[in-house]
Amino acid sequence: MKTIGMLGGMSWESTELYYRLANQHVRERLGGLHSAPVLLDSLDFDEIAGMQRRDDWAAAGRLLGERARGLQAGGADMIVLCTNTMHKVIGDIEAAVDVPVLHIADAAAAAIAARGIGRAGLLGTAFTMEQDFYRRRLAAHGIEVVVPDADDRALVHRVIFEELVHGIVDDDSRDAYRGVVDRLVERGAEGIILGCTEIELLLCQDDIAVPVFPTAALHVAAAVEAALA
Ligand code: GLU
Repeated sequence: MKTIGMLGGMSWESTELYYRLANQHVRERLGGLHSAPVLLDSLDFDEIAGMQRRDDWAAAGRLLGERARGLQAGGADMIVLCTNTMHKVIGDIEAAVDVPVLHIADAAAAAIAARGIGRAGLLGTAFTMEQDFYRRRLAAHGIEVVVPDADDRALVHRVIFEELVHGIVDDDSRDAYRGVVDRLVERGAEGIILGCTEIELLLCQDDIAVPVFPTAALHVAAAVEAALA
């Protein structure tokens, strides 16, 4: 098995999910006492969130590149960046290491394409929904993205930063997210991308009528496949 290098802590509420799922997948695949070889570098999210707010993506790219290099030096055979938003600077990470960096949107796109879906709604941070780095990556796989309107984007972003990254999972927020999803489906979304790694702590397939694509789970599954290849 290859070693999965995780850049996490963004936030740790979802990194915990990455760690658990990686180990569960390996147990399912190999049985017995097998578990996932993981090197985890868990950052202080306050530092990263500050860079996001200050629009200092260059500093974030430098920091994540350095930390990815550290994972590679420690023996990681691949890098998994445990947040959708920070994929904005994936180029800086790729430039810093020689090992593959598994893009979260590629994992999502493969699952969406496998369901024959060409138009998907996207929930995520304002950065992910409003900037083009994420949509462009999906478009490269032939997937068209529908984003919520301004009020719904503000709601989705607020719940991520005021609740989910603090470990707060609230029934009213789940209902509010369902409303956002309904409006995306009315506008033609055939599936919904949970494009923030904490959203799958709040919403699951049972909450939504159309297919749901939980990016953290799909990203981990891709990493485990790569580790076992
Ligand atoms: N984990 C989230 C994501 O997948 C949001 C936290 C962040 O801004 O990095 O985008």
